[in-house]
Amino acid sequence: MSRIRQQNVTAAQWFPNGAAVEAVDLTKEENVVFGSNVFSIEAQRERLPEDIFARLQGTLEKGEALDTDLADAVAEAMKDWALENGATHFTHVFQPLTGSTAEKHDSFFNPSADGSNAIARFKGSELIQGEPDASSFPTGGIRATFEARGYTAWDPTSPAFLMDNPNGKLLCIPTAFASWTGEALDAKIPLLRSMDALSKSAVKALRLLGDDETERVVTTVGPEQEYFLIDEQYFFDRPDLILTGRTLFGTKPAKGHELDDHYFGAIPERVLAFMMEAENEMARLGIPIKTRHNEVAPAQYEIAPMFENSNVSSDHQQLLMQVIQNVARRYGLVCLLHEKPFAGVNGSGKHNNWSMGTDTGHNLLEPGDTPSENLSFLFFCAAVIQAVNKHQGLLRATVANIGQDHRLGANEAPPAIISIFLGGELEKVFETLAAGEGDPNTPGQSLDLGAEVLPDLPLHGGDRNRTSPFAFTGNKFEFRALGSSMSLAFTNTVLNTIVAEAIDDLAAKLEALGTGDLKAAVEQVVAESYRENSQICFDGDGYSQEWQEEAEKRGLKNLRTTPDALPEVISETTVETFGNYEVLDKRELEARFDVWVEQYAMEANIEAETAADIARTQIIPAVARHLTMLDDADADALEKEARGLFDELVENTMALEAVNMYPDGIDHEGLDLAVYARDEQLAKMHEVRVVADRLERIVADDLWPLPKYSEMLFIK
Ligand code: ADP
Ligand code: MG
Repeated sequence: MSRIRQQNVTAAQWFPNGAAVEAVDLTKEENVVFGSNVFSIEAQRERLPEDIFARLQGTLEKGEALDTDLADAVAEAMKDWALENGATHFTHVFQPLTGSTAEKHDSFFNPSADGSNAIARFKGSELIQGEPDASSFPTGGIRATFEARGYTAWDPTSPAFLMDNPNGKLLCIPTAFASWTGEALDAKIPLLRSMDALSKSAVKALRLLGDDETERVVTTVGPEQEYFLIDEQYFFDRPDLILTGRTLFGTKPAKGHELDDHYFGAIPERVLAFMMEAENEMARLGIPIKTRHNEVAPAQYEIAPMFENSNVSSDHQQLLMQVIQNVARRYGLVCLLHEKPFAGVNGSGKHNNWSMGTDTGHNLLEPGDTPSENLSFLFFCAAVIQAVNKHQGLLRATVANIGQDHRLGANEAPPAIISIFLGGELEKVFETLAAGEGDPNTPGQSLDLGAEVLPDLPLHGGDRNRTSPFAFTGNKFEFRALGSSMSLAFTNTVLNTIVAEAIDDLAAKLEALGTGDLKAAVEQVVAESYRENSQICFDGDGYSQEWQEEAEKRGLKNLRTTPDALPEVISETTVETFGNYEVLDKRELEARFDVWVEQYAMEANIEAETAADIARTQIIPAVARHLTMLDDADADALEKEARGLFDELVENTMALEAVNMYPDGIDHEGLDLAVYARDEQLAKMHEVRVVADRLERIVADDLWPLPKYSEMLFIK
């Protein structure tokens, strides 16, 4: 294939016909208006009558439902704001159980009574509640398709916003999605419930710790998103990328990331143009972007917004994924969010920085200069350690999907074993507490760079450990095992809920001891909890074989694949905890399990069928032509070699086609089907690939039907 048709493309060249959103001059201040596409508190204050605005804020603070009057007034203001800013339609956006984003557009215009013309109308009832014909969203058996009714309900805590399109704007209203019997059919409802649960537990504990002021504790999340960008001409030549998001064939290029010349390297011009426009669009949507840089693999990049409360951060993350995919196309690029688009090349993850903050502005995971004396910090940090240890399997399940099975534990991403890295300083604090003797403090250290003009740098309490899935990073925990395509919602629902439970457990123990001598009581509770849960703490190399063995000795779970991990979602422990905290009941958990298991099996089947199709209709014919060519050339030795591989390819392809047919007598469903897909379809698919990839190295380049890794990854 190897047609290198690449030119040095600049942003201007990608806006030749006005079809794309107009290129904005980012050097002009008026073009970068943070939050200008958001119906923000300021926009509300400006447009709502004073008393209505006050009532709305009051209602939101108390977490109460809106009455009709209030809803009508807000809807009216929101509609005027949207129309003035160019919107023609509105939609409730929600996150069904598949983790994607769903929307159904409605026009603001309704015919007037005499049918003569259309007037813009948007009632409070339309704002608060939508009724999508939801029969096609997976519900895991909660709602049969004949009971199509599902409701979307406005989430006033996540701001409405306008999505830009060259031909108009769309008002997007973040909503929750539930069945008409009240079960959560989405990712937002449980997340909001879990935030409430954590707040309640944390405030109660803070009272015991002597804090009389805090009324609400909010969980915060700052995600870091990795992604690949490839030229779209290659994308469209790869049916596997189009249908499955990853390459099902392709041999590793001669050059990988060995030279480490990409990571933090200069960003290519076209890519930087894309990043700037994407960031500008996100700024207008009120998504604050903090950093951007190249990632480890060639053609891989990272973007990180600032942290926000879990709910808004989760909504913004969905939006960010949508924006970077849209904007990439304007530059002739395709943004790949798959966890492992290229075999043998580092995959993409998403880091989830998580903490808890009080409404008085205090980060509960901020250790301060002397963590050993910071009782509140010790208490909440111990709660996190206890929660992660108890629910390690469930946390692993929250990051399970078919793409992740190529990444977790593949020596480039955290292992499938969940463990916590505390860092030297903090570990010493907990270890001395648990031992009941010794000096918990690490004297402040600084790094002398040896040159007079350079300042001494204060050393962090612990070096970083990239191989740890769950690391303390100064004033937050960083859960690093999420996949790049994932929603943040379920992981954070789980984190919030399990930490709430641990906080309650430790608080009960503290209460039982009495808080007369608060320091002694907290130290005792923390020491006991740490002793019981320290098996989860590990500061060594998470990628090493020794850790696999050590973890097994410690009794930590090592759930290697998605079908191994998903049953944790409905384990007895999970059902009990999530029921107690009224975050998800058994039926709601089972629904999620059913949907995710089915999703895995379907995606595996699509991969297996796509691979068989490409092998049969593209690769086998190409190799056959190559053989004819060798035959004509009397290249006997080469022909013999190619013929051997060709026969193997044909045989393996037919074996794959056979298992894809679900041979007689196999009537699987649920987890069985997922296991079948993994052990039969994906396994056979791999055998086809191994041979095809060897052929890619010997078949005439102009005959090879698929763009190669060397083209896709290195042409920027
Ligand atoms: P570092 O320099 O140690 O990496 P940063 O302050 O740059 O720390 O933050 C790294 C990531 O952590 C960013 O994505 C940021 O949004 C997130 N983050 C920082 N503070 C918090 C917090 N309190 N809660 C959640 N995420 C946070
Ligand atoms: Mg990173």
